Formats: sequence, C-alpha cells, structure tokens
Amino acid sequence: MSCSEAKKKVLTIVDPSKSHTADCWKRFGFPAVIDQHGNVMKIFHNFVSCRKCFITYSFKSNSTSQMNKHYRFPTGRGGAGRWRCMC
Ligand SMILES: [Zn+2]
Repeated sequence: MSCSEAKKKVLTIVDPSKSHTADCWKRFGFPAVIDQHGNVMKIFHNFVSCRKCFITYSFKSNSTSQMNKHYRFPTGRGGAGRWRCMC
C-alpha cells in the first residue's frame, strides 16, 4: 500500500446492530475504516470504541463489562482509575 492510499482511509465509529440494545451501546460503537467518500470499508467487530473519547476496548466474547464500567464511571471511579472519558 502506498502512502497516498493510506491517507484516503479514516477511522470512524459505526452504530452497533439493533441486537445491541444495552445502555452502554449508546456510548459505544464499532471502530471502522471509511474511505474519502464516507463509505465503510471495514468494521472491526472485535473492538468497541467510545464515541466521545475514542478509547477502544477489545470486544472478544461479546462482553460488555468494560463498556459498562466506562459508561457508568467515565471519570475513573470504576476502581482502576484508567477511565478518562471526557463525555
Ligand atoms: Zn469515553
């Protein structure tokens, strides 16, 4: 891939499918690559990203626990102190 090709692609966050209805999905979506026209090229279903602060978590085994912690304790009150969402 050339440099000019890479520049045309941009990361974004796409809405989850309608099967994901938990509250945390209002804050999270799947990271995706779009081209310069806004067409979605690739969706990373193994990861989830916060729409506000763009923190990204692994989404293996469909666990929403990380997302729920981030959603409920966005300023780091979740215990580990590593959630720094500016939502
Ligand atoms: Zn956030």
